[in-house]
Amino acid sequence: MPKPVSPDMTTPPDTVGPQELIKAAQGVYDNAYAPYSHYRVAAAVLADDGTVYTGCNVENAVYPLTICAERTAIFKAVSDGSRKIVALAVVTANGGSPCGACRQVMREFGTDEMPIYVADITGAYHTHTLGELLPESFSSADLHTTEAE
Ligand SMILES: [Zn+2]
Repeated sequence: MPKPVSPDMTTPPDTVGPQELIKAAQGVYDNAYAPYSHYRVAAAVLADDGTVYTGCNVENAVYPLTICAERTAIFKAVSDGSRKIVALAVVTANGGSPCGACRQVMREFGTDEMPIYVADITGAYHTHTLGELLPESFSSADLHTTEAE
């Protein structure tokens, strides 16, 4: 298992609550690159080893190449060696919820019970589980249920 090489912040995972994750996301909100939509998004994910990874949306003149804040943060975690995320916070001006693509990527590395804190820029937030945001999801487990040899 690869080791994290450049964690943004590491503490025991049970000491990182919604406020800490939302604050971490707020810390990179201004880094969002959103010259086309003008809709900034920031995220922070908590890996199971207690490391917090942040991310922001990064848009592109070729619009489909844009990546969301949530996936930026998750991919940072994975590229630094994490394979399990246990919580995620997302911050927007108006408390927007994660898109469907991000929900599926969360499912790849998180469980249905994983809390997702959907916050506005003031820090006011709602908590949902991934199972609530992506019910009856498809996951790697579904790839191994048929055609057993
Ligand atoms: Zn998204």
